[in-house]
Amino acid sequence: MAEKGVLYLVATPIGNMEDISLRALRVLKEVDLIAAEDTRRTLKLLNHYNIKKPLTSYFEYNKANKNNLVIGELLKGKNVALVSDAGSPGISDPGQELVKLAVENGITVTMVPGPVAAIAGLVLSGFPTDRFVFEGFLPSRKSLRKERILSLKRETRTVVIYEAPHKLVRTLKELFALLGERNIALARELTKKFEDIARCTLSGAIKKYENEAPRGEYVLVLEGASEKDIIMEAAEKWSSISIKEHVSNYMEQGLDKKEAMKKVAEERNISKREVYKILMQE
Ligand code: SAM
Repeated sequence: MAEKGVLYLVATPIGNMEDISLRALRVLKEVDLIAAEDTRRTLKLLNHYNIKKPLTSYFEYNKANKNNLVIGELLKGKNVALVSDAGSPGISDPGQELVKLAVENGITVTMVPGPVAAIAGLVLSGFPTDRFVFEGFLPSRKSLRKERILSLKRETRTVVIYEAPHKLVRTLKELFALLGERNIALARELTKKFEDIARCTLSGAIKKYENEAPRGEYVLVLEGASEKDIIMEAAEKWSSISIKEHVSNYMEQGLDKKEAMKKVAEERNISKREVYKILMQE
């Protein structure tokens, strides 16, 4: 049986044609086939670097058929490069499924790393980068979207979101309505001529984009919730009942004392020891 080929995940520029590595160019020249999310865009890149290779399209709506084709070629021993529309394959694009299939078929998968819009936006935001969450595109279904945004209410890590220009104002308004005021950085057209990072508040961003049409691609970077706000919010929420009553309520609902104390500590954002100490005093 022929030796299996290698699947190369090749990162390509997110706007600036110069953002491509020497290894990426060599791999694109050497593989047998390039599977591209947007063949027209990839062709432009290949022409720019004078690379001539067979191209096949691989995008969300044809990936089921194309998975078989690409995996078939790899199993025959052909080397394949997967490139996305822009940036790193597998990040908010259909690439991840092909990777999963390749792994299941015992095919070697390797990465030629490079630009990722999320990382560029994150580091340019000025917010903490030591801990962050990548949300990609928010779900389009209203109920799921709401749930997802609400799950960020107590998120203290910096949050990175992808958004298309025509949905930007709607998303900013939803974030403001569900999370309240937050600092945000809107990283637009990264690496391109009109690259722009607007650092403001959610309400400021809404005002700005109600007066000017959003243009280009955006990475939204939200500052995480402050620990202090979370503690104050919890204290306010439970200020009308004492810790003892709070624990008793849960015990009446069937929890044992230890479980009730744990739940109260979690909800009030205090330690179990503090709950215990207060129960002993009262
Ligand atoms: N795989 C890509 C990556 O590695 O970043 C992301 C692909 S996703 C389909 C496209 C989204 O990425 C856009 O809607 C936008 O949110 C973000 N994006 C891509 N290029 C960008 C750029 N030059 N400036 C700002 N955001 C960009």
